[in-house]
Amino acid sequence: MTKLGIFFETNDKAPVFPIIPFFPLFLHFNRMSMLDYTSFLFNPVFGENTYVVYDETKECVIIDPGCSSPREEERLFSFIDSNRLKPVMVLNTHGHIDHIMGNAAVCNRYHVKAAASAAARPYFTDAEQQFRFFGLQGQGTFPLPEGVLHDGDIVKVGTGQLEVIATPGHTEGCISFYAEVEGAVFTGDALFCRSIGRTDMRGGDYERLCKSIRERLYHLPDDTDVLPGHGQMTSIGEEKDFNPFVTG
Ligand SMILES: [Zn+2]
Repeated sequence: MTKLGIFFETNDKAPVFPIIPFFPLFLHFNRMSMLDYTSFLFNPVFGENTYVVYDETKECVIIDPGCSSPREEERLFSFIDSNRLKPVMVLNTHGHIDHIMGNAAVCNRYHVKAAASAAARPYFTDAEQQFRFFGLQGQGTFPLPEGVLHDGDIVKVGTGQLEVIATPGHTEGCISFYAEVEGAVFTGDALFCRSIGRTDMRGGDYERLCKSIRERLYHLPDDTDVLPGHGQMTSIGEEKDFNPFVTG
């Protein structure tokens, strides 16, 4: 499986932390190093959720930076800077404009690369067509992500990690990021609270999206927090019970 820089490992490697039963301090350290996150609601038109994920080492990744104005960029930057976080990468769940608008600003300011799935890359180059779809005049540059993520890749964040889960259907190449230790999954526009992503845009496939949700996301533990690209958070168990589009 392809690796990207020093932050990625494939799933089939040895566990990051070996089990040392007679060394409880080690386990304590492990528990103290859990990932945390802060979310931002950006873009008055799209209402997109941007997430900053970090741990006590202060390393962080920015998932779907959707800041759509200098003012929103400043909100994101001031949070990162005032908490002395050290961005190591931008991660994109997919290539829709509302999820990538802040890529260039974040990458330029912190000298980091963006990563997305290979199938998401064409969306970065048809941004003007996406703007037109929504009747917007928008323009702008959306540099191609330099990193390519695959299903099962592990993204290191400090001492924590996120697993890439392929969840196509809303677009081609949609991925989710699963924090297994913390019990949380960042689903982009695949799964929302009581809803699912639209499938009427380029590369959308309703059956494929339902299959992604049923076979990949609903297999996660019921108490897993779902942190979507739009709207409020929910859990896998709640969506299995109450989501009107895909029941578990
Ligand atoms: Zn989308």
